[in-house]
Amino acid sequence: MDKIAAHIVQTLQRVRDAKFSGRFPDSIVTLLAVSKRQSAAAIQAAYDSGIRDFGESTVQEALRKLEDLESLNITWHFIGQIQSNKTRDIARNFQWVHAVDRLKIATRLNDQRPHNYPPLNVCLQVNQAGEAQKAGVSEADVSTLARNVISLPRLRLRGLMTLPPANTDPKANAILFARLRDLKDTLVADSIPLDTLSMGMSADFEVAVREGSTIVRIGTAIFGKRDSPIKTQ
Ligand SMILES: *Cc1c(COP(=O)(O)O)cnc(C)c1O
Repeated sequence: MDKIAAHIVQTLQRVRDAKFSGRFPDSIVTLLAVSKRQSAAAIQAAYDSGIRDFGESTVQEALRKLEDLESLNITWHFIGQIQSNKTRDIARNFQWVHAVDRLKIATRLNDQRPHNYPPLNVCLQVNQAGEAQKAGVSEADVSTLARNVISLPRLRLRGLMTLPPANTDPKANAILFARLRDLKDTLVADSIPLDTLSMGMSADFEVAVREGSTIVRIGTAIFGKRDSPIKTQ
């Protein structure tokens, strides 16, 4: 658990260095700790180091941890693929959803968001490389989807999210990150107010920050490898 604190300090420093060497030195970048397949104790350790934003990608696993950590002041982000039968739990338990990619899901989230809660923050996942196995709206269809989502009163459309192809040179993703930024700027110029670019993971967050990311989603660089047994000390 001591390692988590050290990893957070290092990661925040790397984010800061990337920011000052990039295009947007004044931007605010949120470090979203991706805690999927990590224990509640690991989340508590990150929380004790000052992290307040946590990301989970399956509803069942997340709900258990949300209950265990109920007393903490955490902003929970759902970053996984969204199945229709899970929208109710997501709308009731999370403050952010990063991977909305079709109107049907957005409408369900809107209808199921409790009325006494603030609107649910939403990003649209863009499938930039046209990968068949990945979710995400195509770049060509983002604008139409965005227009439909902003008309849903229980949602607050915040921005765009990308999950670029893995195993490439992180620098190669700079082109995709820049393209997502351009896409966001185009929408903003078209009167769709967006303030968020959810881009960058452990392997490529510095590249993403240099290109204007406002939320980096980082798992392994904070918590270590997910496949290794959870450490208990
Ligand atoms: C798991 C996951 C991450 C974090 O990946 P790391 O490489 O461990 O930093 C980020 N975004 C999404 C959507 C994920 O599923």
